[in-house]
Amino acid sequence: MHAQTETTAAADRHYVVAGFAGEGGFPIPTDHLIGAAWTQGAGTGRIAVLDPSSGTVLTSVADATVADGLAAVDAAETAAAGWAATPPRQRSIILQRCYQAMVDQADWLARLISLENGKALADARSEVMYAAEFFRWYAEEAVRINGEIAMAPAGGNRILVQYQPIGIALLITPWNFPAAMATRKIAPALAAGCTCILKPAEETPLTALAVGEILRRAGVPAGVVNIVNTSEPAGLCRAILHDRRVRKLSFTGSTEVGRILLREAANSVISCSMELGGNAPFLVLDDADLEAALDGAMIAKMRNAGEACTAANRFYVQRGIYETFVQKLVSRMGALTVGPGTDAATQCGAMINRAAIDKIEALVADALGKGATLRLGGVAGPGPGLFYPPSVIADLSRDAAIQREEIFGPVAAVTPFDDVEDAIRMANDTEYGLSAYVYTGDLKAGLGIAERLDYGMVALNRGLVSDPAAPFGGMKQSGLGREGAHHGLLEFTETKYIAVSW
Ligand code: NAD
Repeated sequence: MHAQTETTAAADRHYVVAGFAGEGGFPIPTDHLIGAAWTQGAGTGRIAVLDPSSGTVLTSVADATVADGLAAVDAAETAAAGWAATPPRQRSIILQRCYQAMVDQADWLARLISLENGKALADARSEVMYAAEFFRWYAEEAVRINGEIAMAPAGGNRILVQYQPIGIALLITPWNFPAAMATRKIAPALAAGCTCILKPAEETPLTALAVGEILRRAGVPAGVVNIVNTSEPAGLCRAILHDRRVRKLSFTGSTEVGRILLREAANSVISCSMELGGNAPFLVLDDADLEAALDGAMIAKMRNAGEACTAANRFYVQRGIYETFVQKLVSRMGALTVGPGTDAATQCGAMINRAAIDKIEALVADALGKGATLRLGGVAGPGPGLFYPPSVIADLSRDAAIQREEIFGPVAAVTPFDDVEDAIRMANDTEYGLSAYVYTGDLKAGLGIAERLDYGMVALNRGLVSDPAAPFGGMKQSGLGREGAHHGLLEFTETKYIAVSW
């Protein structure tokens, strides 16, 4: 998408975060991390990295060929036995150092994320802290990979169960949380004793490369984490997934690409963890604490300017408080400051690319064409920065496309309901099942609704579900497996059963 072809001199192949005045930071290598070395690899191409707030080019990163991808597998294989045999305590100490290094570099990393992703600095800073927490959590989990032992029911032998590192893992991440989606995979992979190849999104390679350098400096041995960027993800990932040495795929991204990767992974019957798209419903019942529901709505909708898989996509509000909710939401959304992520005042940053704005515009036009009313915003900024204003559309019809598709932007779509049963039906009427939100003053009713929502995660009277200590993941076409918690560690292990007579 951003491919460009010129090669840059080795000495210039670093990026210095523009305009960072604080302490810390380092020039970020813009090549691939393969084994012990940062290298341009076999390919001569570079991928331009754009600042979506201005449309300017920040720098370029090396564009991997298939040969580079396979060289990364070679490096991961060379390091695999040594890392698997490294005592868990030692792995834990290294992960703890990674946590501390990320926290120490938080301001600098946040600015970097804002620059290449466009999100507001406050969002970027929360992401860095969230990303760092995966290192801390899995530093603690690395020493708790317990097995099981049982007497066989027939009494003849013992059943011994161990969790072993699953092997070389391919980690593919999206642009919307360029640090956290990487660390949510790298940390459990390393804790479990696996080596890996990270393939970040084309739009946000720099954050991943900065994390790679932080890991290297924190003492992660050569080859344990390898990073390759490419403008041709399909070919590169296919080659890696068809290499029989690779045993794990952990992917975060769209359901559409997830389906393609599941087919590729079938070739060598690779274990897959898939964190895919969402279409979160946000239910507000008449008896909810209205101000608390609005607080939650603003977090669930506007964190990351709506570019989150957990973002509230469809608000269903009970008739008794519907109009008040819409008016207050309009007033809160309308008060947000839109602008370049790196401006301290910005609360809603830029969208990632033109295609994202085109999709938002199409979904809003579809809803309005089917009878919805525009209550706020609804018109993209003039450019060159990729800004879309916080917007509210109300009274959506049931056949509006946004009832089924992720809008992935700062648009709140609100639909009234009378009967709670109807709201649950509408909430579940989607192929997705990642996260859902419920606000009610009746905890018993709320728990009952939560149990009936076909979602992997339900936030009850809260606007945020993400927590490194909780199992994050979706039902239906939102994914397979879980990240975070102890569950996320087990995704990088193989269960070994040994029948013992003694
Ligand atoms: P995307 O699927 O377009 O891209 C994700 C990654 O897949 C990128 O690294 C991309 O280069 C790579 N990719 C694209 N085509 C590929 C192919 N054919 N083979 C191999 N790799 C390929 O998604 P995106 O636009 O970057 O991210 C937005 C999507 O991610 C949304 O749908 C969002 O809901 C989802 N998401 C899900 C979670 C979750 O935890 N469930 C978290 C964040 C984002």
